Parts: sequence; C-alpha cells; structure tokens
Amino acid sequence: MGIAEEDVARVRAATDFVQVASEHMALRKVGRRWVGLCPFHGEKTPSFSLNAEEGLWFCFGCQAKGDVITFVREIDHLDFAEAVQQLATRAGITLRYDDASTSREHQRRERIHEALEQAVEWYHQRLLTSADGAAARKYLRSRGYDGEVVRRYRLGWAPEGWDTLVKALDVPDRVLRDAGLAFVNKAGRLTDSFRGRVLFPIFDPGGKAVGLGGRVLPGGEGPKYKNTADTAVYNKSRILYGLNWAKKAVVDTGEVVVCEGYTDVIGLAVAGVPQAVATCGTALADGHIRLLTNFARRIVLAYDADAAGQGAAERFYEWERKFEVDIAVAAFAPGTDPADLARRNPQELRAAVQDARPYLAFRLELVLSRADLRSPEGRARAAGAAMAVVSEHPNELVRDQYLMQVADRCQVDPGRLRSGAWRTGQSGATRGQGGAVPDTPTGPPRRAEASGPEVEALRLAVHRPEEVADRLEDVLFADEMHVAAFRSLAAASTLHEAIGSADPDVAQLLQRLAVEEAEEDVDDVLARLIDRGGQRALLELQREARAASVPEEYAGVVSWLKLTLEQLREPRTRQEAEAGLVPWLVARNRTTA
Ligand code: ZN
Repeated sequence: MGIAEEDVARVRAATDFVQVASEHMALRKVGRRWVGLCPFHGEKTPSFSLNAEEGLWFCFGCQAKGDVITFVREIDHLDFAEAVQQLATRAGITLRYDDASTSREHQRRERIHEALEQAVEWYHQRLLTSADGAAARKYLRSRGYDGEVVRRYRLGWAPEGWDTLVKALDVPDRVLRDAGLAFVNKAGRLTDSFRGRVLFPIFDPGGKAVGLGGRVLPGGEGPKYKNTADTAVYNKSRILYGLNWAKKAVVDTGEVVVCEGYTDVIGLAVAGVPQAVATCGTALADGHIRLLTNFARRIVLAYDADAAGQGAAERFYEWERKFEVDIAVAAFAPGTDPADLARRNPQELRAAVQDARPYLAFRLELVLSRADLRSPEGRARAAGAAMAVVSEHPNELVRDQYLMQVADRCQVDPGRLRSGAWRTGQSGATRGQGGAVPDTPTGPPRRAEASGPEVEALRLAVHRPEEVADRLEDVLFADEMHVAAFRSLAAASTLHEAIGSADPDVAQLLQRLAVEEAEEDVDDVLARLIDRGGQRALLELQREARAASVPEEYAGVVSWLKLTLEQLREPRTRQEAEAGLVPWLVARNRTTA
C-alpha cells in the first residue's frame, strides 16, 4: 500500500471511531456495541453495528463492513491512502511512507488527472478553433449541439494524426500511457489513443478528469465508440458519465436516470432532465448502483426498449433488495434512444421519464402488448408468458398484485393462476426462464448458519481468545466456512490480521462476529460444540462398523464414545470427558483425512 503498516496501525489506534462515525450518523450504545441507522443504505430500523474496542463495524442490512478506514473511504469516497491521510491529520500523526511508494502512487494519480485535464482542454480548443475540427463541428451542429452544450460538456476533437496530442502536450510519455491517452504501437512509437473522434470527457463525481469517450464521425473507421481502458483513476464498473454535472439535480429529485450513451445524457439534460448519467461502454454493475445510492433511491433506466426488456431481472431485483433502491423503466418505442427522442420530441422524452414504471410492470406490459388477447388460446398463452415474468419477482405480495392484473387482462381466474396452472400450459417458446424458476428465490450459494455452538465458539475466539485458545480445534467445526474462520483466527496474531488474510466470505463472517456480543459461558459453548463433534464421529463409526467385515471390532470404541458423550453432559465429569474426547477427535481426523 505504501504507508508504513505501523503508521496505519497507529492511525487506527489513535482514532476514536465512535466519534468519527458520530459525525455522519446517530449512534446509540447497546451493551458493548454502538448501533445506528446505516449511512450506506436507506433503512428505518438500525442494522449498523460498531465494536469500539475492536474498531470494526458491520451492517446487517447491506452487509457493508470494515474498520474506521473503510468507513471513511466509503462515506467520503476516498481511496485507502487518502482515508488514512485524513484520519492521520485528524489525529495529528505524520505518516511515513514505505520506500515512498504511496506518496509516489498518490502523485502518480495526481499526474494522471493533470495530464487528462490538459488533454481535455487541448482537445476542446481543437474542436472549437482548428480547421481539422470543421467536420466534427458540423456533425455536432447536425445533432443539435450548440456552442453552449459543447462548452458545458467540454466536448473535444481528436485529429487524425498519429501523435498530434503526444507532441502537443508537455507531459512525460509514461504519464500519457498511464492516463490512457497514448500507447506504444507495434513499431515502438508512442501513438495517440484517440484519433479522428469527437470526444466526450469523463469526470469523477468531484469533477476531476478520469478518461475519455470517443465517437467516430459518420463514415469513419473503427468501432463507433471507444473509451479509455481502465487505468489507476478510471474503473469502468464504477464510473458514470455525467454524474459530476447531474449530482445536484439527482440529489434534488431523489432520482437518477441511467442511460447507455454520452449523447443520451446530454440529450436528456437539454430536454430538461438534468438528473441523467450513463455507463461508459459497459453494463450497469454493482459498483455503479452502490455509487448511485449515495445520491438517490430511485433509479430510472432510460434504455432502448428492447435492451431494457432483456435486462437481467434477477440482478435488478437483487439490487432493489440489497441496496434498497427502486428500479423503474422509462418506456420508449423499440429502436428509439433518448438522444434521438431529445431532438425529435423533448416533451415525449420528459413524459417517458416521468411515467417510468417499476421494472416488473414494464416487463409485463411488454409481454401483454405483444400477445393476441382476442382468442381464448391467445389469452391462455399470454397468461402463461406474463406469469413467467411475474414469478421472477422475489416478493410474494408484489407477485400477487401483478397476478391480479394478469388475471384481469387475460380473463382467467386468479385462483387458477395462483395454483400454478399456467406452468403446465406454458409453451417452451416464451421468453424468460419463468417456467423453471421456483417460487422462492434461491439464496446465496454458501451461507454458514447464523447461530449454534460453532458460531458461538467462533465469537468467543474473536472476543475472548485467551479463554478458548487452547481448547478449540478445527475438527470441532463441521461447516467449511467456520473451519476457515477458525483457521484464520488461529494463524493470525490479531483479529485485523485474520480478517486481512481470509477469503471475503470468511472475512465478512469474522467482521460480523466482531460486532456481536459474546456473553455465552465458555464451558457451556465448548461442551455443546464438542458434543456435536462427538456425535458426528459416533455416526461415522457406526456407519464404518456396518460396512466392516468384522463389525465387533468397533464395539469397544463405540461404547467408549457413547459413555464419554454422556459424561460430557454431566457438569461433574465434563472436564475429564473433554480432555479425553478432543485429542481423540483430533487424532482420528488426522488418520481419516
Ligand atoms: Zn447498511
């Protein structure tokens, strides 16, 4: 990372996490934890939990988590080094850098921003004034862009030459490459990345230049759009074009319109919908949604109708649940995009955004509008196709309301639809996997149970390691995630180290445990944990015995194990049973593994 690891630890130790968090949210003390409404997702009941002693937080609602550095990063949109620097300044600590690599990294990013800023301005002037920019100016005028729009969005023109920009800017070659402005061609020559294109500069939400999108002129060569490849300051899964200009309108309206192209954003703004942004040559991703939820809770997709209809329903519903946002769709005629409509009929464009409907309502309308509802056969088919769409929604109450609409439109009995009769009548040709999708959404692939002796033991290992350290063994955990969590804890000297070295799933579990109370009685938890381990071994032994050629050979060990398990339940003999059973389990695991 660059900042000396010791200094990061010093900053963490010197920071009053509760005080830092309190500047962004109201916290209340409950037991040993602090709880409050999570600042990272909208909620009415608190699921944000902070453990001041460990300096860790976890949100049970949105699963966000981390330490005070992560908290500051997320809340202020900073990178790691920036967050540490902010906290260090606050604590009066002067940071030292490992071999100066972080200050170098920080400077490198700043130089990239500066190079991009210079390039944006150079390209912009080229568009405004140069002779070779005439065709681009003409094209933009034909698209209805006046001088005001060109200046507001700082549009540019990249001339045809191989290295016009490279020669014009007084920027080191390496920085030009790092910024994605130039590359070394096969002949070993530094070459402009953008040539013969109208440029749409891309800025981060704070207004710093991070990249460029380039469009060829009609009849030009190469792909229609070309964007900066990912760089140290540009990550296409997190960058949204236009957010720097749209931010205020997004916050004011509580809504953000997401479209697919730079020209859509500009078209929408010119048509009176300033709260629009676009993904930059990529599909909408988790990172985009997470960024947007800092500004708004309603996301309106303004895509071409077919593109919106084919969106991945599961992901939309998942985002609605995970980020507590509403996703709606503005309906356009097929083949129409917002940029076209902005020029032809701005009023219709505004109306389409205003009348955006929930994603499910939009899909349903799409299916029903294509159906033939004049004959009983047509209506039955339509009902099947519509129900396939409805069944994808994870909320039963929502499904039922749409079911009523389907019943009404297709003139079928709602009871028949509820009973699932539509599934059997559904032809394989209908779009959507609805027929095969179960009524309840499937959960995440791997989730360890949230309670029970394994979790309690892990929680004790997190909070009171000295009390359980010598008494726990990985053989006592059956759940693979619990085993991994225990191993991370056992191998690390601090909780932070364990979290840092664990897989994301396991790190998440540890972080959650760190903000829970560990009030249970150690002896009691261990007895239950060991009992479970013993019971598992007993079942295995009995299975082995049944399969063995001489089952009698197992009789001795089976009866010893049964007896030991009984002793384990008796407080008087518990300790002795534990002392005999745990080493036996460990040894047995070693020989069978
Ligand atoms: Zn949350």
